[in-house]
Amino acid sequence: MYEPKQFQDASFIDDAEILASLEKAKELVKDKEYVRSLLEKAKTCKGLNHLEAAVLLEITDPELEKELYALAKEIKEKIYGKRIVLFAPLYVSNHCINKCEYCAFHKDNPSMVRKKLTMEEIDQEADAILALGHKRIAMESGEHPVESPLEYIIECMERVYAYKNSRGDSIRRINVNIAATTVEEYEKLKAADIGTFILFQESFHRPTYAKMHPVGPKSNYDWHTTALHRAQQGGIDDVGTGVLYGLYDYKYELVAQLMYAEHMEKMFGVGPHTISVPRMRMAEGVDLDKFPYLLTDEQFLRIIAVIRVTTPYTGMILSTRETPETRKKALELGISQVSAASCTGIGGYHKDVARPKSDHTAQFQVSDERTPEEILTWLCEDGYIPSFCTACYREGRTGDRFMYLAKSGEIKNICQPNALMTFKEYLVGYGSEDLKKLGQTVIEKELEKIPDEKTRELTRERLQQIEEGEQDLYF
Ligand code: SAM
Ligand code: SF4
Repeated sequence: MYEPKQFQDASFIDDAEILASLEKAKELVKDKEYVRSLLEKAKTCKGLNHLEAAVLLEITDPELEKELYALAKEIKEKIYGKRIVLFAPLYVSNHCINKCEYCAFHKDNPSMVRKKLTMEEIDQEADAILALGHKRIAMESGEHPVESPLEYIIECMERVYAYKNSRGDSIRRINVNIAATTVEEYEKLKAADIGTFILFQESFHRPTYAKMHPVGPKSNYDWHTTALHRAQQGGIDDVGTGVLYGLYDYKYELVAQLMYAEHMEKMFGVGPHTISVPRMRMAEGVDLDKFPYLLTDEQFLRIIAVIRVTTPYTGMILSTRETPETRKKALELGISQVSAASCTGIGGYHKDVARPKSDHTAQFQVSDERTPEEILTWLCEDGYIPSFCTACYREGRTGDRFMYLAKSGEIKNICQPNALMTFKEYLVGYGSEDLKKLGQTVIEKELEKIPDEKTRELTRERLQQIEEGEQDLYF
């Protein structure tokens, strides 16, 4: 077992080693055969280390670049098939005592209308999110010990889990994205049935981190960088990380991100469950001209491909910060989970509630404003299976148990049927006639890809039961 002390020393992010890796990579990449040997090694899905990732980031040779992207696609398909998991963020409060330079919620933003949801509004938001077909949310909040202490977050979680809509549907998994906290508070989140605890590192580069977080509890780099370690200590074994790309040099950040995942794997036997790839967006009161490290779409897609080949079994999450065009390309290269029809304001899903306009409570602007129907149509037309599955965490398949499942290949006999059944449930409950037709074609085609014959037959039966009104069937 782990030491009872709280982790708070982030010296495992070794600045000198990151810089040395970035330098070495510039030399190593010149040897085409060596780069090819890395790609061969990655093909076995055993992952690559941070130095090897740095080499892949340096590739400029068009042939090697093509091979890297082809491999990212191959690994993506091998492990995740055509499934794309969907979720929506639920922002419960924008009160914040931090002053993150990139975020519209920061404490000194005078144009931000401060708001937190009441329990009645939580019901209304849950109802509206369910009506979009979602079963999985990411609960988000600013950091405020008085307005949104942990007790408030837990009350919101309990309220959301308890809410049932007129069809008897409820949210089945709540991931939580709130400020870094103590082991004791993580234990409470675990007891409240948290799915994944997600915390973005924002930047691993200490000077940038200090500049971006001048005051408030979040200004403590070591405390923030070790939060997911404490979450693990507190019993949460599915944790999610991510860099906010655009704050500092993306190559430095990605190498550090992998160094971080390596450390976590060493400490706990399992790395992060998910890596998110948020990219800096326009936000109220934030001047993008002050961010010299904003990256191009090409650089952003390279990051996704490199994460996919270096950490093949880690889910990768993309939000509506990205445009439909970028999302399309990113899905091919490795993304396994996307948000859909998101609102980053407080109380923005339920349109009638008396509240400040959600525009003035929003954290940043989204770039993909399509409805779930449009998103699902797009996914089906591009050959994907939209999945609303939440089975693993409800069945206790988290942490290293999930990794075992993924690595053994058994995932195809579990995730594929669950994706098909939850998509079917969506179609029956919320799909238009057109989408039902399109979706049914996808389901029939993908059903044949379940390797185990018995599971395939059982799935066929269960799909029929769902058609007849049954809900929440899963393996
Ligand atoms: N307040 C908590 C925190 O900061 O860790 C919870 C997360 S906050 C509600 C969600 C995330 O949005 C932040 O971690 C940050 O990476 C991201 N974010 C903030 N401002 C952004 C912007 N202008 N563009 C894109 N992402 C942004
Ligand atoms: Fe507050 Fe989080 Fe925004 Fe920072 S990123 S200002 S902590 S809500």
